[in-house]
Amino acid sequence: MRLAFISDIHANLEALEAVLEDIDKQVSIDEIICLGDIVGYGANPNECAEIVRKKSGTILLGNHDAAAVNLLATHHFNSHAKIAIEWTAGALNNDVRSFLLSLPLIATRDALTLVHSTPYEPNMWYYITSLEEAAFNFQYFETDACLVGHTHIPIIIVLDKKKEVYVHQAVRVNLREMEGSRFLINVGSVGQPRDRNPQSCYAILDTEKGDFAYRRVPYDIEKAQAKMKKIKMPEFLINRLKDGR
Ligand code: ZN
Repeated sequence: MRLAFISDIHANLEALEAVLEDIDKQVSIDEIICLGDIVGYGANPNECAEIVRKKSGTILLGNHDAAAVNLLATHHFNSHAKIAIEWTAGALNNDVRSFLLSLPLIATRDALTLVHSTPYEPNMWYYITSLEEAAFNFQYFETDACLVGHTHIPIIIVLDKKKEVYVHQAVRVNLREMEGSRFLINVGSVGQPRDRNPQSCYAILDTEKGDFAYRRVPYDIEKAQAKMKKIKMPEFLINRLKDGR
């Protein structure tokens, strides 16, 4: 099976379309898996949700999706995110609203755990920002690998057979060749990358060969920004797209 992982689209239609076009060009992708945050920040929440629903086999709930349909209060959100959620909640059509309400928090597929935030208490929307937090979370999934989104920063964290936890410093890895190791992988963000590379990020995993690799895809950032300006999103949210942070 060749799986494509997309996450944190955040209603950025230009980014989503560019990524789907790139996925179409890859050799035989069997399924697209979406790790959540389809909406929030960008100008096209309904369009993005409808496309993801059509194209993805497995779709997880993100915290922005949850907040946009009132499953989650926004008091933990920063002021920019709050403004974006309020606009999004008002813009969603009924169909998309019930679709978002139906999404699961966590799923297991073959040898993979899939979740937006963390395998530990996924409904609390914790962030993994240190090796200590990663080490803690390795105790809360059974599979060899867990794929997440949420921080918008692509990273491969390894727990090796000596029980050491470290960051794998490459944009590809073979999960089979590192025998006895387990993996906690952030697949990056389609619609709002924050690793100082503004290009959309997604990932491909070949489950038979074990090959995992990120792909970066340029998209029309100015067009996405102009649409955000039109709906009066905060400047900070508009500007960060071109900086990738
Ligand atoms: Zn997000």
